[in-house]
Amino acid sequence: MKKETKMIHGGQHLEPPYNALMTPIYMSSSYGQEELGNYGQYAYSRTENPTRTALEKSLASIENGRDAIAFSSGIAAVDAALRLLKSGDHIIATKDIYGGSYRLFTQLLEQLGLQFSFVDLQDLAGLKDHFQANTRMVWVESPTNPLVKIVDISEIVKITKSIDPSILVGVDNTFASPYLQQPLDLGADISMHSATKFLSGHSDVILGALVVKDVELGKKLHFIQNAAGAIPSPMDCFLVLRGIKTLHLRMQRHCENAAQIAEFLRAHPKVEKVYYPGFKDHYNHQIAKKQMTSFGSMISFVTKSSDLESTKILIKKLKIFCLGVSLGGVESLVGHPVTMTHASVPKEEREALGIVDGLIRLSVGVEAVEDLIADLNGAL
Ligand SMILES: *Cc1c(COP(=O)(O)O)cnc(C)c1O
Repeated sequence: MKKETKMIHGGQHLEPPYNALMTPIYMSSSYGQEELGNYGQYAYSRTENPTRTALEKSLASIENGRDAIAFSSGIAAVDAALRLLKSGDHIIATKDIYGGSYRLFTQLLEQLGLQFSFVDLQDLAGLKDHFQANTRMVWVESPTNPLVKIVDISEIVKITKSIDPSILVGVDNTFASPYLQQPLDLGADISMHSATKFLSGHSDVILGALVVKDVELGKKLHFIQNAAGAIPSPMDCFLVLRGIKTLHLRMQRHCENAAQIAEFLRAHPKVEKVYYPGFKDHYNHQIAKKQMTSFGSMISFVTKSSDLESTKILIKKLKIFCLGVSLGGVESLVGHPVTMTHASVPKEEREALGIVDGLIRLSVGVEAVEDLIADLNGAL
């Protein structure tokens, strides 16, 4: 099946006894046993729940994986992936990683004895030098927040596996979604999602997932899911499953709108710089073209009067773009990395990365693009 069909039917079946088209929300914590010693398929909903199973099968299908494991949040999914390792193990992580993952790694997991190196994964030539005898995982993110950098996933996999095939490569695929990018097909071992974003798509749920192609790795992660217990509710699983059925339609519109808005911004006399991987002169355009089916809906830009005060006024004047964290919902959002996602990064470090006071991040929604452009034009 093609991916659009998988998004609707992948891993799904008509649900007995009424042949329900959509998986019901199984709000049951426990299940009656046939007899002593025979638990049946479901025993207790921390371990397994039919609505969660339906979601996990859908996720495995749309990522071309063999198993998927759902969690109560994206960050719980990252945490579970890192629990595959043990004290003393070393992880190479991308330098401009999602802030919540950085906090988890440096403020919780380092205390438990995991060691991290944060490196620029765009520098493939230098990557080999960061591996140590105890390196067990490489944690990749592409595209990144907020400068939409793209790293070459299959090249990173190749370098990693040439050092030791047992070193796991995990990819945070949240910004691309399975519609645009399939890390398992590019050789990664784990594709991670904050399903809170594009997969759910309607800004009404927090949920995370890991998708794998190795069945044994999947079993280990199901064990961690049950043992550590960060499971999503059946209601939240239902909402994400429902969201996935329109993922391809939403992504097509997200990408079309973003391409037009990026062009509009670049041509605007008050705009200094636009970060959008669909531009031929974007620093990673060729890699984006190679590993993604389109360029996504995240755009960042800087105005010519890039001070904090004028940025504040611009954002205040926007009527459709709502100021808020998160991304990937049907509604357009505007964010300000310096005061929001990157507030805890020291100013010099931030500016060296290109995250200046005037940087504005857009999550382009699926509204009429004319209205979105008029909104930006008015504010500018
Ligand atoms: C939001 C996000 C997460 C964390 O997911 P939650 O569902 O908020 O826990 C991880 N990675 C990326 C890239 C994100 O955008």
